[in-house]
Amino acid sequence: MKFSMLPQVFTQMFKKPFTNKFPAKYIPSSTTKFLENVGSGKVEIIPPIETPDGFRGKIVYDKDKCIGCKLCIKVCPSDAIEFKPEEKKVKFYLARCVFCAQCNDICPVKCLSMSNEFLLADTDKYSKDLIVE
Ligand code: SF4
Ligand code: SF4
Repeated sequence: MKFSMLPQVFTQMFKKPFTNKFPAKYIPSSTTKFLENVGSGKVEIIPPIETPDGFRGKIVYDKDKCIGCKLCIKVCPSDAIEFKPEEKKVKFYLARCVFCAQCNDICPVKCLSMSNEFLLADTDKYSKDLIVE
């Protein structure tokens, strides 16, 4: 280690961490027990820190404004958007989305935006929380 780094190392040692102890300060070895305690109110979940400006979370789709132009599908790098020909609307599979927001930028009628929602973990990649339509 270079000695010139030492002041920085010592400064960091006394700074508060940027992360918080979300969802709880201590999680017991049994997650099921933990969730039961949360459900019964014995344990309180520590809220996550606020997301910064420009955060790219779960896509919000204003379906009524969509004109079905398919431009979002063309720019999506992860093939996460499907066209629904019967409705002339689109469907987003968030399990494939990389949250790049290119679909938002290209949409000519601005019917897409990125929310602050990031708690999207799921065991089922087709769960209703991971599909936006
Ligand atoms: S945010 Fe990026 S990856 Fe996700 S649907 Fe839009 S273009 Fe595709
Ligand atoms: S770019 Fe916008 S208007 Fe065009 S299909 Fe996608 S969401 Fe709809």
